[in-house]
Amino acid sequence: PWLNLAALGGLAAERRPAVDPRELRPRVVHFGLGAFHRAHQAVYTEHAAARSGEPWGIAAVAPRSVDAVTALRAQDCLYSLTERRPAGTVTRAVGSVVEALGLGPDTARVDALLASPDVTVLTLTITEKGYHRRPDTGRLDLTAPGIAADLAACGSSSGGSGDAGSTVTVIGRIAAGLAARMRSGGAPLTVVSCDNMAANGAALETVVRGFVAASSWPDRQAVLDWMTDSVAFPATVVDRIVPATTEADRAAAHTALGVRDRMPVVGEPYRSWVLEDSFAGPRPRWELDGALFVPDVVPYQLTKLRMLNGSHSALAYLGVAAGCTTIADTMAAGWGERLVEALCAEVAPTLPPGGPDPAAYAGDLVERFANPGMRHLLRQIGCDGSLKVPERWLDALRSLRAAAASAPVLELALAAWANATRPAADGGQLFGTTDPAATELASCWGRLPEGPEGEDAKGEDSKAGDSKATVRRLLRVLGAADLAEDGTLVTAVAARLPAL
Ligand code: NAD
Repeated sequence: PWLNLAALGGLAAERRPAVDPRELRPRVVHFGLGAFHRAHQAVYTEHAAARSGEPWGIAAVAPRSVDAVTALRAQDCLYSLTERRPAGTVTRAVGSVVEALGLGPDTARVDALLASPDVTVLTLTITEKGYHRRPDTGRLDLTAPGIAADLAACGSSSGGSGDAGSTVTVIGRIAAGLAARMRSGGAPLTVVSCDNMAANGAALETVVRGFVAASSWPDRQAVLDWMTDSVAFPATVVDRIVPATTEADRAAAHTALGVRDRMPVVGEPYRSWVLEDSFAGPRPRWELDGALFVPDVVPYQLTKLRMLNGSHSALAYLGVAAGCTTIADTMAAGWGERLVEALCAEVAPTLPPGGPDPAAYAGDLVERFANPGMRHLLRQIGCDGSLKVPERWLDALRSLRAAAASAPVLELALAAWANATRPAADGGQLFGTTDPAATELASCWGRLPEGPEGEDAKGEDSKAGDSKATVRRLLRVLGAADLAEDGTLVTAVAARLPAL
């Protein structure tokens, strides 16, 4: 037997959804039927509906995977969530999704929902790629193949006002949906990006407006003006570790539920959602499930970036050198916990006021990272370091140096990252991480050492000079020419390398 409405009666009470989906209506449209949405916003919405008694259901749109739509429909849109707690796992069905749609095949239904005054919130988890931003300007990349095709389709559509026909991009569909909404009455709408990007609301607004402006709709200026007045794009900070679902997760969900589930998700027990409090109309009362509505999310975003992501990267580069495999390994080894606490204490003074309490945040991190049920791989976290390190560590480092404060933990972390960029004999990086700038990083090390004797033959001074030059070159690859010129920093980082 499979999980579906008929099977709910047979589930133990604690495994049933918090709401009966038959009592909900689609009032939120979501794009991106991935694991994260099902373990995050869908759970907040379910609890908000249960606790407020308001019928907020989700119509979830899969941008690309028709299989996900078929699988979810076969289960009456029910799926299970397994929380991996340190003491064991807890599995239950989630009931907030009431409709599953494919972006291509169900265009008419998606548009009808986006135009309906009953729908007042649209959410997205489509990964950063789904925004089609130009890396240099952050504006919509009009030359991206999907965007160009969608713009061409809306130009050639029949009918005076035009629509975007059957788009292939989420951005094109949202633009077309907003235009349809304006033309059919123009009820206010709030569009909530839940993807991991700084200023995600503004980023989304820029690309959607970019699409409308580049369309050939005769009323495009009216759509843009209406958006200014009636469509809000609040910024958000989302947090919950949700790994991709594995076959083993599917089998475990089956055992726990007693019925099979094609779409299970697993996540850590911790979750948080911080939203800019600027909604254009009604919304689910997510605060009833702990969501925070704040005037400015930036302090929260920087805390997450510098403390959570910053610690993750530091643990990753030190951990691979120490022979650990996962974040939980580094915490079990004891030094991980000390490192997280020390790094958080070091960067806390660089954070703007108005965010979470740094000590409490660090305490939560230690608990989350120590969870042995979450096998978060160090090598995966350590990949793409040249893109991650600048925003996770370097802004904090700059602000500490400007305040003449010492930064021993960030220096150690930088040395560990530098160490992990060493070229390996197989042409990759020493510990198996990958990086788009791998070749450039490898060239910072100059000629590969010729073996222990060759190394020993060099004088100590000349070896130290070599390491400093390497650190300087590596910092330049990070785009940090200012830090590369900082002799004290470069000496401190280079001095850590021999021990690593
Ligand atoms: P996933 O792989 O399970 O799902 C990705 C979703 O994005 C799918 O619905 C897919 O169709 C869609 N997508 C991918 N490329 C796209 C494109 N070019 N255009 C339109 N849609 C596209 O991933 P997930 O775990 O659900 O994560 C999705 C996003 O959620 C992440 O990129 C991140 O921004 C955010 N997030 C995830 C986590 C996590 O732990 N998984 C935590 C915080 C935030």
